[in-house]
Amino acid sequence: MSDVLVDATDLRDFVARIFVKAGCSESESELVGGLLVGSNLAGHDSHGVIRVPRYVSMLREELIFADRTVELLVDTPSLAVVDGKYGLGQTVAFQATQIGIEKCRQSGLSAVAMRNSGHIGRVADWAEMAADEGFVSVHFVNAAGSVLVAPFGSSERRFSTAPYCVGVPVPDAPPLILDFATSIVAEGKVLVASQGGKQLRADALVGPDGSAGNDPHLLYGDFEPTGPRDPRAGPGAIRTFGEHKGSGLAMMCEMLGGALTGNGCTEWGRRFSNGMFSFYVDPARIDPGQLFPREVSRYVDFVKQARPLVPGTQPMLPGEPEARSREQRLRDGVPLSATTWAAILETAASVGVDKVPVCKPQ
Ligand code: NAD
Repeated sequence: MSDVLVDATDLRDFVARIFVKAGCSESESELVGGLLVGSNLAGHDSHGVIRVPRYVSMLREELIFADRTVELLVDTPSLAVVDGKYGLGQTVAFQATQIGIEKCRQSGLSAVAMRNSGHIGRVADWAEMAADEGFVSVHFVNAAGSVLVAPFGSSERRFSTAPYCVGVPVPDAPPLILDFATSIVAEGKVLVASQGGKQLRADALVGPDGSAGNDPHLLYGDFEPTGPRDPRAGPGAIRTFGEHKGSGLAMMCEMLGGALTGNGCTEWGRRFSNGMFSFYVDPARIDPGQLFPREVSRYVDFVKQARPLVPGTQPMLPGEPEARSREQRLRDGVPLSATTWAAILETAASVGVDKVPVCKPQ
């Protein structure tokens, strides 16, 4: 089998059918299918449909559950504490974000502490949801149980890949969305590389002896080409980005996303769960004079006009690479490595989905 290109709508429907057969409602399956394919469209294959086999096996093993309604543990006009009860992360984070948006609409400022969620995918999804309402948002995330990243100055794992995300709405243009793991790469990028996709940069990982490397075996230990990957099994770790700065930001994601939410910080032996601490701000409540949107637009133009290093290009803004990828992949199809596609087809067959979308070789 070769690497393939699949039409985004066909892929979304196919993935949704898999989740229906795995026990999720139609509406949850459509949400999960849409968001996973949305990640591929945004160019983040690490958080796209490559996750289908893992999510389905987690449902089977009852590590996560279908169609959870979150529980509100604290509910004040501006603060919510939300327990996801190990529901699928897309469902839990969607509800948590809805709650944050609604409180922000009422109060101008809100905070949501979300705990015990399945994997919430691309954090940008939640910042985009807030930006669609005109709200600024900031998100600190951890992944309890997912001990993958060595702190600056160490070769031993302590942090999760602990993503950080900020969304800012821009008048008459897509929002600015800064969304990254505080590790040099997200674990999903190691997964993609281990399945024959894009290779990691040379210093993304660190071995137990402290030397930098990019061999996925450092994270997963031994594995079969289409078999599962165990991120606990390898002897090495992922490195934080930006030396002490990324490492410090990872620590703060663990503090806010892990400790403050009640999700728990990342540690060996803990069950996987994403925790997310989110702030939502309504700029119109701070500034009824509309200075904020005017200033955002003016500054976006100012930054774009900075002298480029490569003639004929412009510096890109946060969110722009994703928007470009989306445009191209909606037109040309979603590229998937042969190994990723084979693993998804195997999962589809295992739950009884046999109608496979037509795909083109890459
Ligand atoms: P990344 O390194 O590709 O960085 C992405 C960010 O940088 C985006 O905001 C993008 O717009 C911006 N960017 C990229 N290239 C740019 C350029 N040339 N100029 C200007 N801006 C640019 O992202 P990553 O660290 O690999 O993370 C990928 C995804 O993984 C994120 O969506 C993150 O939320 C997700 N993630 C999720 C979890 C979880 O537990 N749910 C854990 C880790 C990461």
